[in-house]
Amino acid sequence: MTRAVVFDLFETLIDYDDTRSREFSAEVARLCGRAPEDFHRVWREGRPMRETGPMAPYLASLGIEEDAMHDFLELRRAFTREVLGRPRAGVIETLNELHRRAVRTGLITVCSEDTVDVWPETPFAGHFDVEVFSCVCGLRKPDERIYRIALEGLGVEPAEALFVGDGANDELAGAERVGMGAILIHRPGEEPAWPEVRDWPGPRISAIDDVLSFL
Ligand SMILES: [Mg+2]
Repeated sequence: MTRAVVFDLFETLIDYDDTRSREFSAEVARLCGRAPEDFHRVWREGRPMRETGPMAPYLASLGIEEDAMHDFLELRRAFTREVLGRPRAGVIETLNELHRRAVRTGLITVCSEDTVDVWPETPFAGHFDVEVFSCVCGLRKPDERIYRIALEGLGVEPAEALFVGDGANDELAGAERVGMGAILIHRPGEEPAWPEVRDWPGPRISAIDDVLSFL
């Protein structure tokens, strides 16, 4: 029996807009004295570090001075607030329906500190029983410990929980390795974005409320 559903965030509950991400890089590159393309490359390469710890030491490692850091963080929070401000269609309704059915809800996201900072202001606030942010726990998917943190918080056994995600970070196989069920979500009419899940043998959905049919 399914007692909990645990969701990925990016490309599962919200769209990740790569164009907007490049615009952000262009906007902040000047604060670091770099060319926009150069900054964008460095920013992408730095994901593992900033997604497993606080932002300030990471920004310092890029050579961003103390006074520019405040401006950088403000711009980043504004960017993230905008991205997280637009849940995909049906997401909030699905979370409400899960609660109505007494199914616990969790979130496991690989993200940096700005997501945590703005989270209380987003439409998602208050909709999850447990939220696990990689930059807070210092672990990224598919590390099995990150799933166990969520499961322990939810008070369910792995076999009682489903994980739903777009498959980034090998997250679906990671969920299965700890004993959870795993559901692939991808955009309607499109192949899954990640090559490693194109042939995903498990269940797949293309609208978030389809998860209700697996309960
Ligand atoms: Mg994702």
